[in-house]
Amino acid sequence: MEVIRTVKVKLDVPDERCDDLHQTKQQFLHCANTTAEWAWRHPTDYCVTSKQKAEKALYEGLRNETELTANLVQKGIRRAIEATKSGVARLKKGDNTSQPHFDAWSVVYDKRSATFHRDHVSLSTVNGRVECDYVIPDDAEGTPIGEYLLNEDYEFRMSTLQYDRQTESFYLHARMRRVESDEQSTTTSDVHQTSSDAAHQNAKRSEDAKHRTVLGVDLNVDGSLAVTSTGAFIGNADEMNHRRREFEKTRGSMQQTGTRSAHLSIQSMKDREHRWMQDELHRASNQILEEARDHDCTHIAFENLTDIRKRMAGAKRFHAWAFRRLYQYTEYKAEMFGIEVEQVSPAYTSQRCSSCGFTHENNRRSKHQFVCQKCEYELNADYNASKNIARKLLKKLHSGQKSSGGGAPCQCALPSGTLNLNGDFHAYSVTESEGESTDKPTTSVVGY
Ligand SMILES: [Zn+2]
Repeated sequence: MEVIRTVKVKLDVPDERCDDLHQTKQQFLHCANTTAEWAWRHPTDYCVTSKQKAEKALYEGLRNETELTANLVQKGIRRAIEATKSGVARLKKGDNTSQPHFDAWSVVYDKRSATFHRDHVSLSTVNGRVECDYVIPDDAEGTPIGEYLLNEDYEFRMSTLQYDRQTESFYLHARMRRVESDEQSTTTSDVHQTSSDAAHQNAKRSEDAKHRTVLGVDLNVDGSLAVTSTGAFIGNADEMNHRRREFEKTRGSMQQTGTRSAHLSIQSMKDREHRWMQDELHRASNQILEEARDHDCTHIAFENLTDIRKRMAGAKRFHAWAFRRLYQYTEYKAEMFGIEVEQVSPAYTSQRCSSCGFTHENNRRSKHQFVCQKCEYELNADYNASKNIARKLLKKLHSGQKSSGGGAPCQCALPSGTLNLNGDFHAYSVTESEGESTDKPTTSVVGY
């Protein structure tokens, strides 16, 4: 399991550079708010939740408008898209929500826009870099600063810079991740190794290991065609059903006339219908790929597609066909990006609570609403299932690793950590934005 700790440390900012940080914050929030406005233009029918689309549309403009580095502009855009995604999930659930707005003093820094040291940090600003010493108390031992910030076993991850108006002080909320250690090799075979050597070796090993990030996809015969573990609701199965029904009705009545021209009309209608369906499935597979790439996924997990009609109530032959097509499209497009697509057993994925793991058939209140009987976690049922599907592949990958002696870290792509459907994304909290995996993938499972 991943160990991540957030440590708040006060920064000693040179007086003459404070304004550079305030300006940086101003422009960073401008990027986020511009993006949120753009993404939220049509909340009733379409919000943009693809980071790639947002970057393509806004990046150049924001780069010209601001004096921020490329990385900070990108982080501003991404932060807004994460919030938009949470908002869309709330809308789907029928909750009231509005366009995300950012006014809290907060700037996201990662290893490209900051250089983290054990005693100071170098931050990129609108006016070059600024070096800030940490204000480390004398008795840091036993405090989070001593335990994590000063501890070489922990490395810096994406962190945030914040400002406290009352004390007029800047704080770094440093996110520290424990460097994975393989106990056997460091404690038994290399007993003479010094601890710093060991830490170095471990750091190197975790760098070498290929990170694995899984996107889970749940397929449905009604509602959204596909729902991902990152909270994207893709395609419209209801519309597909409706078109299919209309088509069959018309075909039925035309067949009764039995003329040659009726036969030809049926054929052209069939072709048109087929093309429409294929276009829909291409679009859906593109969106799944976008989600996977946005979250740096290495794997996409689908439910096992055989016997789909047996498993899903109300599934028709054309559903099985559509799911297979969607799978095939996704698979061959994923290959171009080096992403693997796999199937896992669907057993219990709709009954298991993705929060606490409690599995029971009564957990599902209605077709699209999941309520855990144990921890009362409540969320969209398909979204819950998609997280369980991701987890299944994760477990499979993990156990496969053990036997081959690997040790590559695995994780599951979720929106900003766990999606808190009751959370207020205006106050998009530090912890939430820190949980997002837009940076380099981290080890193991996020959100479980
Ligand atoms: Zn639960």
